[in-house]
Amino acid sequence: MAYLDISHLEKSFGVNHVVKDFSLPIEKGEFVSLLGPSGCGKTTVLRMVAGFESPDRGAIRLEGKDMVPLRPNQRNVGMVFQAYALFPNLTVAQNVGFGLRIAGVDSAESKARVAQMLDLIGLPMAEYGDRYPFQLSGGQQQRVALARALAPRPRVLLLDEPLSALDAKVRVRLRGEIREIQRQLGITTIFVTHDQEEALSISDRVVVMNAGIADQVGTPFEIYNRPATPFVASFVGTLTPFEARVLDPATGTVTSGGLTLNLGRPLPSQAGATVPIALRPEAVQLGRASGREIVLPATAHSVEFMGSVIRVRAEAAGQTFLLDTFNRPDSPPPQPGEPVEISFSGRDVIVIGA
Ligand code: ADP
Ligand code: MG
Repeated sequence: MAYLDISHLEKSFGVNHVVKDFSLPIEKGEFVSLLGPSGCGKTTVLRMVAGFESPDRGAIRLEGKDMVPLRPNQRNVGMVFQAYALFPNLTVAQNVGFGLRIAGVDSAESKARVAQMLDLIGLPMAEYGDRYPFQLSGGQQQRVALARALAPRPRVLLLDEPLSALDAKVRVRLRGEIREIQRQLGITTIFVTHDQEEALSISDRVVVMNAGIADQVGTPFEIYNRPATPFVASFVGTLTPFEARVLDPATGTVTSGGLTLNLGRPLPSQAGATVPIALRPEAVQLGRASGREIVLPATAHSVEFMGSVIRVRAEAAGQTFLLDTFNRPDSPPPQPGEPVEISFSGRDVIVIGA
């Protein structure tokens, strides 16, 4: 059995069936994200693991032991929330030491551990220990919240959108720091976010949740490149969806909008079946490129300058294609209405659910 084994959780609030047959085995030291839109049940899953909600059905086992009957403080789980939940009237050191006092850790040990935690989060005791939360930036406050959750040495760390109240630059920096600290401690972690880039960038595995159901569980690479459902495909990243008809499943040959594409891999469908396929913008190239055997005359429509890449919406073969091309200072992007060529390879076509 997995280190933390969540199996067949069900939870309703009145008639609102919020979590549906949710199972997730997590290995020791793993960093797993729950990713999904607001209201899909992420926080409810986390709160059931923490013990703030009890499941209607299902089990949560830590090292084989059922946690459901245990109170939150008996579970050995640390939690960080979105809003800064620090005690405003306690200093940084007192906040971090809070759980240790509750747990009856003696004061010498507690002092040492608070100092160690503050070092870990880069807010050393000497400089920050006596400050109050209002004297800290948002990012610093979330670091302290993390230190407070980690100080009692929990076996599982739960993070509920801990970065979403921070501005973009701080958010990106802090997510890297959280991952680094998590690796150093080897602590098993569930991280909740509605931000797909955040989930993909820091997780060992991602669970994409849709209306209480885990639509797909996989590595970031799998989730992005082999989306299991149309929901996962549309929620994670950007793509252009197409309908295709299978010509030869053995060779992976399909037809879509008058184009014949060879996907370079067998398809689990029969000849004549319709399959949803899609292209990521980075799979389509402006102009010809080696290894991209499909070349189409196209018209650029909208051109969006995003900095490192330029996103072009182009019309070709009666269909719309999105493509990303890297910015180059010496070559300006095409103008809307300009005729262009686009190219891609059948091997880069995503088959949704295959
Ligand atoms: P997420 O974290 O993915 O945004 P939540 O788990 O917070 O989603 O909520 C899922 C659904 O459950 C929402 O419709 C929310 O209104 C409902 N819900 C959550 N907690 C409660 C509660 N204590 N009582 C009633 N409804 C709740
Ligand atoms: Mg939530």
